Amino acid sequence: MFKKIIMRRQRKAKIIATLGPVSSSYEQIKALFVAGADVFRLNFSHGEHKDHAERYNIIRQIEQEFKRPIGVLLDLQGPKLRIGTFSNTKIHLKAGQPFRLDLDPTPGNNQRVCMPHPEIFQALQHNIDLLLDDGKVRLKIIKYGHDFAETIVVSGTELSNRKGVNVPDVVLPIAALTKKDIIDLKFGLELGVDWVALSFVQQPNDLVMARELVEDKVKLIAKIEKPMAIQHLPEIVNLSDAVMVARGDLGVEMPTEDVPVMQRQIIRTCRSQGKPVIVATQMLDSMVHTPTPTRAEASDVATAIYDGVDAVMLSAESASGDYPVEAVSMMDRIIQRTEKDPLYQKMVDDSYTPPAPTVADAITTAARTAVSTIGSALMVTYTESGLTTFHAARERPHCDILALTPVLKTSRQLTLVWGAHPALTDDIFSVGQMVETACAFAKQQNFAQTNDYVVITAGLPFGQAGGTNMVRIAKVN
Ligand code: PGA
Ligand code: MN
Repeated sequence: MFKKIIMRRQRKAKIIATLGPVSSSYEQIKALFVAGADVFRLNFSHGEHKDHAERYNIIRQIEQEFKRPIGVLLDLQGPKLRIGTFSNTKIHLKAGQPFRLDLDPTPGNNQRVCMPHPEIFQALQHNIDLLLDDGKVRLKIIKYGHDFAETIVVSGTELSNRKGVNVPDVVLPIAALTKKDIIDLKFGLELGVDWVALSFVQQPNDLVMARELVEDKVKLIAKIEKPMAIQHLPEIVNLSDAVMVARGDLGVEMPTEDVPVMQRQIIRTCRSQGKPVIVATQMLDSMVHTPTPTRAEASDVATAIYDGVDAVMLSAESASGDYPVEAVSMMDRIIQRTEKDPLYQKMVDDSYTPPAPTVADAITTAARTAVSTIGSALMVTYTESGLTTFHAARERPHCDILALTPVLKTSRQLTLVWGAHPALTDDIFSVGQMVETACAFAKQQNFAQTNDYVVITAGLPFGQAGGTNMVRIAKVN
């Protein structure tokens, strides 16, 4: 299986498409894949296990059909705080009026509502703001106790059942994994997902705890959507396998004008550490209801690509919008067009950061130089864990990266990585066999022609995950 790369993508950056009500059938998911989706996101903030399992099985069926690995990303809801319900579903608010939050589960009215999270009341402080409904309602804390908070409405006119609550200014004494997350995670591991995203990561320890639960069964993505996480960014990136710039919640938790600045800071930190980075949320938002994006949205996608990100993501556009397939193919076209601009390579080169003083980085920078010096069309990585390919992608070489692996899960995980074309091979036992396999594959799949040079990196000894420690230049015959 997956010994051929059919329908090769003509771009480096990858597309993640969230599945939802409008993308659940075999035909719909297949159309998204054909249009360019490389990874599918199962969003566990919505839907039942049964729905996710059905989508998962359809993805695997499509994978078989196209003989090409597809990544599946399980996105955990995380500690998303919500208010309770109102007796009339929604209420109207006026700036300046008092409004109380408490632990009383009876339905609310326009004076009070339940906020069923005792731990938040304990973490409150005077004069901080609570943001509700993605920031549409702002409440200032006036008085609080262990089971209530009295607030004044600063802004907002309406509030309805179960809207989200953000508390940007305090570190909440809650773990990144809730009870629901742990159940969802277990379910996802049994299904066989490839990546798991943790929402509302606040501190490095959140990753340590999650890692204990998943061991090496999946790779972990930290979603950066709390100002607190930015303060610990290098450490969080270091403990994650990949990172998502989760601009939706990030933009609620900090001023809008800070979001693009943080986006760049996160991208830079990830690229420097060789961790895949995803830019998410509202990229083509107007395509939820119209068949074409705004010019500003097209430019937003292109900007992320010029910054050298690994992947861009669609949320409502592909999950619940009116034009899911159009959104994926629009993204595909914008990426391809941007990557063809000579300025793209230059900008990606200019934002290259020096390698870490490690053997793996020494090998891969050498491979990158070799590619440029001899004008090679292809870098081949032979990898068990995927790390050799991560290192190769860190270099953003001026060529394709063919990622050969004997591990099915690794081939699926690498669908998220910049420039990587993952493919499954048989187990390999010697350097000679590796070179032969790489050259044969490169030629057969049209990555290189006879007499071309390919630059191969790998970690020896074969058969065990470990550090990248060899580079070999081979001529295709
Ligand atoms: P979400 O995460 O869609 O799960 O909320 C992404 C974001 O907040 O941008
Ligand atoms: Mn979010």
